[in-house]
Amino acid sequence: MAASKPRTVIVLAACGFLLAGLGYASPSSASPGSSDSTGTDGCSAGARTLAQPGSHLYPEVGNGGYTSVHTLVHMVYDADTNTFLTGNQVVLTQRATQCLTNFSLDFERRSNNAAEGPNMAVQSVTVNGRAARFRFAQPAYPGDANGPDDPNPAAREASQTNPAGGPDHNPLPPACTPQLLSDKASARHSLNGTQCPANKLVITPAQPIRDRANFEVKVNYTGRPGVHNDGDGGREGWWRTPNGGFVITEPIGTQAWMPLNNYPTAKPTYDFSDTVTAGRTVVANGVLGSVRHNRPDNQFPGGSVTWNWRSTAPIASYLVENSVGKFHLTERTADNGTRYYVGQDASISAERQKENLAIMNEHQDITEYESLFTGAYPFASNGVFVGTPKVGDQMEMQTMIVFDNSRIDTSTFYHENMHQWWGDNVGESSIEMTFFKEGMAVVSEMLFAARKAEAKAGGPQSKKGQAAFQASLVKQFDRIYRSKGKFWTVAPSNPDAFNLFDDSNTYNRPGAAYIALRQILGSTNFTQALQQIQRAYGGGTITEPQLEAAFAHWLPVQTGTCRARLSQFFRQWFDTAYPAGGGKDRPQLTGPGLTGPGFYSAGGGCA
Ligand SMILES: [Zn+2]
Repeated sequence: MAASKPRTVIVLAACGFLLAGLGYASPSSASPGSSDSTGTDGCSAGARTLAQPGSHLYPEVGNGGYTSVHTLVHMVYDADTNTFLTGNQVVLTQRATQCLTNFSLDFERRSNNAAEGPNMAVQSVTVNGRAARFRFAQPAYPGDANGPDDPNPAAREASQTNPAGGPDHNPLPPACTPQLLSDKASARHSLNGTQCPANKLVITPAQPIRDRANFEVKVNYTGRPGVHNDGDGGREGWWRTPNGGFVITEPIGTQAWMPLNNYPTAKPTYDFSDTVTAGRTVVANGVLGSVRHNRPDNQFPGGSVTWNWRSTAPIASYLVENSVGKFHLTERTADNGTRYYVGQDASISAERQKENLAIMNEHQDITEYESLFTGAYPFASNGVFVGTPKVGDQMEMQTMIVFDNSRIDTSTFYHENMHQWWGDNVGESSIEMTFFKEGMAVVSEMLFAARKAEAKAGGPQSKKGQAAFQASLVKQFDRIYRSKGKFWTVAPSNPDAFNLFDDSNTYNRPGAAYIALRQILGSTNFTQALQQIQRAYGGGTITEPQLEAAFAHWLPVQTGTCRARLSQFFRQWFDTAYPAGGGKDRPQLTGPGLTGPGFYSAGGGCA
């Protein structure tokens, strides 16, 4: 592609000159079948995925050639009919990382789930205020040398596996993850080899965008938002409720209600200015700025209300919250300045709301407890919201934790709150890294159980209490370590879409690994490592090598053999798939006080 040319001042100047002279890239320079993917003189199409070549875990999401700086969600939403109305738009401020002839967003305007899926249409797109051409395209597999508009249909196939559909079917990697309509194991490979839907919104501005220029993209769209069918048969996105919508979106469901750069490394800051049916409440990320009541108009004969929320902290694609309904919402400011929000759907029974509230009121205590291990709370606000749909999921939406099915439980509250540091502030560098933040969230549940044991035995100041705390962690570790069956068969760092959210590989195994790591480093060094990672990577994302290097830095014995042994530890726990049952080969380096031969002392141990 043309982008392989060095980015020099001369190229930029040529690019700017072309704009004035020619507007769009000249047709003669375009290759057949990709009329807008080949530009001129150093300008080219942005990549249409951020997944690594060969990825078989949602390889279709993310967009390159620019970074996402800020997003204004300007929603105009009729909560009675669950419809985005005229004027509904997102305004995306982006920064080019190359000279761009065109670029893309992820937007799922229609779905194979007719009942709950989205049904939306784009009316217009502008770039820097000027009308831009747009079209919807299928993704091609990441790394396709023929470019994002590869005319070969085999380059645009869905599959859980690489190659797509198995070696006899197609030698190429998959271009997207199948959207399963069932979570039954028999459905797992049912859509392998089918064509990917056209969910890439490709935008061609009136003139190419210079490298390093900030540019503003407005997308006007209307219609019904909905849910995305995930590769494990789960559904995420915008759930219809009697009085509005309930938003819970990991891993890629945000694209079923708004166009965006739908990859976890894209972390713009956000403003929400949502105009909705009068009498409805919006809960979103960040801090609530203002609520304005509007007179009746053509679109809202009964009047409307505009809710303004703002997050000056960057938010990853799957953590954007924007639920609408009849909610009870309260706000208070803690003595340390953090604003706490508590919300519940008003249709939840008074008795249940009271039970929920008793748990929700622990939010500050949980936050302060977790910060003892993992450092100061990273955001200006924190919130929790309980909605009514039975989604089968609770989620760490940034600064606005969301529970479904009208109820909250304390252990899961610890889990989701721990994500505010792990996943939200320090994000995953790819969807393959989901295990890194889920493991830390599992650690918080283990800490909660240990905290209860400690309190029962005399509290944190007593020797008995401290011993009970440690004994609880060892017991919880052992319970996971003894797991049999298929527990050890998937490497946490290499899931497919069907098992991405399985307890074994994404939750309990990395959770147990962190507890073992705490033994190896010592509790003080472990805490130091967590806090240093927060300082170094907060607001951004972390890769697996960066994570492991940060822990290695706090290894108390800094010899070559000990560091090599720690690398082996990570390989065993994070990167290795074992036979069913784990057998004798399952992770052995589990540290003193936990099962296994030990890290420092046993045969082959380091010193
Ligand atoms: Zn989690």
